[in-house]
Amino acid sequence: KLSSQNRPLNMVEVMERLVERTKMQAEDSHRILVKARNGLAAVHVIREEWSEAVQHYREVLQSASEHAHQFKTDSLQRLHALHNLHELLSAGHSELPQAIGDTELQEQANQIKHRYLQQYSNKVADARKECDENSNQITQLEETRNMKSDWWLAALQAFQDDFVAEVRDELLSKYSRFEEHKCLLYHVTSKSQLKTMLQSRNKMLHRQRQSMMKGVQSLADVDPKEVLEAAIDCHLRPTEREPPQCKICAIHDLFEDFEKNLFFMTDQKHDRTTGVSQETADVKEKAQVKATARKGNWGQSEVERVLKYLQTRSLSKVSQDVYEDAQTHMKVLEGMKKEFKNYRIYWRCIFDLVSGLDEVNMATLRLRVRYPDEEISPKTKKIKKKKKEGDNLLDNQIEVPKYILEDHEVSQEELKFKSEKIVYENELRVKLGQLLYLQNLQKSNKSSTGGKNPEPCPICQSPLGEEWAVLLCGHCFCRHCINLITTNMVIGLKRGAVNCPMCRQPTMVRDISYVDTKAPSVQDEEDDVKVVGSLSSKTEEVVRVMLRIKADDPNAKVLVFSSWNEVLDVIADGLAQNGIPYRMLHKGKKFQLHLSSFRSRSEITALLLPITSGANGLNLTEAGHVFLVDPLLNPAAELQAVGRIHRMGQTKS
Ligand SMILES: [Zn+2]
Ligand SMILES: [Zn+2]
Ligand SMILES: [Zn+2]
Repeated sequence: KLSSQNRPLNMVEVMERLVERTKMQAEDSHRILVKARNGLAAVHVIREEWSEAVQHYREVLQSASEHAHQFKTDSLQRLHALHNLHELLSAGHSELPQAIGDTELQEQANQIKHRYLQQYSNKVADARKECDENSNQITQLEETRNMKSDWWLAALQAFQDDFVAEVRDELLSKYSRFEEHKCLLYHVTSKSQLKTMLQSRNKMLHRQRQSMMKGVQSLADVDPKEVLEAAIDCHLRPTEREPPQCKICAIHDLFEDFEKNLFFMTDQKHDRTTGVSQETADVKEKAQVKATARKGNWGQSEVERVLKYLQTRSLSKVSQDVYEDAQTHMKVLEGMKKEFKNYRIYWRCIFDLVSGLDEVNMATLRLRVRYPDEEISPKTKKIKKKKKEGDNLLDNQIEVPKYILEDHEVSQEELKFKSEKIVYENELRVKLGQLLYLQNLQKSNKSSTGGKNPEPCPICQSPLGEEWAVLLCGHCFCRHCINLITTNMVIGLKRGAVNCPMCRQPTMVRDISYVDTKAPSVQDEEDDVKVVGSLSSKTEEVVRVMLRIKADDPNAKVLVFSSWNEVLDVIADGLAQNGIPYRMLHKGKKFQLHLSSFRSRSEITALLLPITSGANGLNLTEAGHVFLVDPLLNPAAELQAVGRIHRMGQTKS
């Protein structure tokens, strides 16, 4: 939700948010529209109607560049259009209309691919740098060691066998009685056993670290294209229940092994004791891919705790050299843990790069009919693989829209795309209109312009100033020009509607919005009505008129409409500060309750409601006064029937 702050937004902030949100909505509509156009092009290709297909692809590309100043078009959607348009034009179909720039289609497609993958490669490179830094630090630490042999061998010489019991008790104190057997030192009773254990554990850590590093680096060195095929079968779009493991996933197993020794994994304990099936364990392991997944469980390993204990206890008993080496060793262990986490991120970045490569490849696939010799359930049909909640890795499976059709499905798909195209073309037009309208209001909102809109009227070029008219498409005209247009149009054939001189889109005369940014007139200042609080002049104007209505008729009922909840919040704040009891209707919650208290309780004189949810099922004639508070576009037709509408313009705040 946008209005989640406690402090009500001021008008400038409201405008910014509305503009941002409208942009996002326009972008969403455009995405579906482009999808429909790309789909329709494919249908035409299936029917071998080449020039129609070309036309649709061209429209996608044109629409993308046309709106580039307001919002971005999905780069993979553009890639799809560029790639397929190029393919069509170079297929040798006769008499396809050529256009400027046709020779650059492939180059543009390649650029998009390159840029798309570049973001992933950059992340891989960054992650690699982190890992190299960690490894260098570890190497440097190792070089500062005083002795060739391990420090704990020397340190243990200062103790008897009873030290083993001591450190063993220390470790066991963390276990419940029934779990003591899981302790690393459970069977260790002598110094020599402890030595052997420490030695083998440290060797294992070293070995596992090496294979993790080598594994990830070898993965980073191969061309992602080489591992893609196996990755598709393994984890991107598996078609078998038990798919063969790809190289990327195989290397992840090295992390699991290393992690178990480098850290004390608390959840691992559960795995072993509750006797979960192998399948669940597998899924769990895969779920641990993200560095964050197990963070809470990355405790100190028991080996590390033994070494730390030994280090502390031997402080006064060993030489300076031994003690310094112990400190270095502890730092190395810390470094290895950091390095481990960064290597896992590094691996994840490579994983994502391969997925990105797959996305780019899939993006160029065009909807087509199944070849006669092709199997009925092709690879694209998603097999439900063993999957559990919180399973990050498998969630990454790319959802591929079905792109192979049966013959009889073609017209069905075409119908779907056609209706989507109509709906979202219209949706986009409305959103772009609102956007333009809001951006215009925003310009006049800037204090530097003194509430005047510096934009020129597109017809007469004089600045729009304090008063202008907005058509549904969002184009604005000065009062003088809009009067000329409406007078001309009424004489014309299309009664009651004007065609925008800029884009030809029709707007009913009654749907034209008039914006007035003038500050409240001098007459208002002489009014006996006093408005409390530091409100924007827009809000102040609403409150002032409402106070005046209340002075005339204490029980007068007032409806305040706005297209946006944020605007209503600002007004609600102003009403509250001036002691005007109100109810606000939001969709759903307590809608009926608030509505009936507005109706039945005489002291509640104002009802604030969003124009989209409010008008339905509400008898507007109940209220003597209706406020339409801008920014508002396309007021619902019912509202026009109400006699006394206070049409409020946007003013500077
Ligand atoms: Zn895999
Ligand atoms: Zn004009
Ligand atoms: Zn227009």
